[in-house]
Amino acid sequence: MAAIGSVCVYCGSSMGASPRYREVARALGRALAAHGIRLIFGGGGIGLMGEVADAVMAAGGQAIGVIPDLLQKREKGHRGITELCVVASMHERKNLMFELSDAFVILPGGFGTLDEAFEMMTWRQLGMHDKPILFLNMDGYWDPLDQLVDHFIREGFVAESGRRLFAMATRVEDVIPMLIHEPTVAVATPVERL
Ligand code: AMP
Repeated sequence: MAAIGSVCVYCGSSMGASPRYREVARALGRALAAHGIRLIFGGGGIGLMGEVADAVMAAGGQAIGVIPDLLQKREKGHRGITELCVVASMHERKNLMFELSDAFVILPGGFGTLDEAFEMMTWRQLGMHDKPILFLNMDGYWDPLDQLVDHFIREGFVAESGRRLFAMATRVEDVIPMLIHEPTVAVATPVERL
């Protein structure tokens, strides 16, 4: 059972096509605040990431943003949060977000969101950490990713155990209990599988 003090939320810098995305992002922010869990996020004030942070702050929680200097303007560095860490590069952003977090939750998003989530999955596969990774699969948004993973496994590029690198929740209220109870993963590294 993992002790979860801080959760990193990866999510879109856009709002998405349906108002449901915004509602769920806000519900997740409220749930984190209610459990006294600190939000770690990309530091922007736009899209779903801004919504999660706003909801955390409105509910009396804590939100730490990590934003590269070059994105401050484009992603509207959030000034109304507990702390905004301005870093020099995208790599520094990812590293600091990783270090500050006990677990990762992935809301709907695009390339940036997937890039961040996949990095945590590959680091876990390599045994570099064992922090829970959970996709919030609201309204089936991440179903195509699930199918892609099945394809990877079928075609022999990901081990069956690769499925255990991440979990999927369909409801916001399941997120925190699932993070707390997620079993640790002992995934064979690619080298061991050879
Ligand atoms: P998107 O899902 O494309 O809307 O992107 C979500 C967030 O991921 C945005 O804040 C992007 O700035 C961020 N992002 C995209 N690529 C990277 C990267 N290589 N390292 C860190 N953050 C990234």
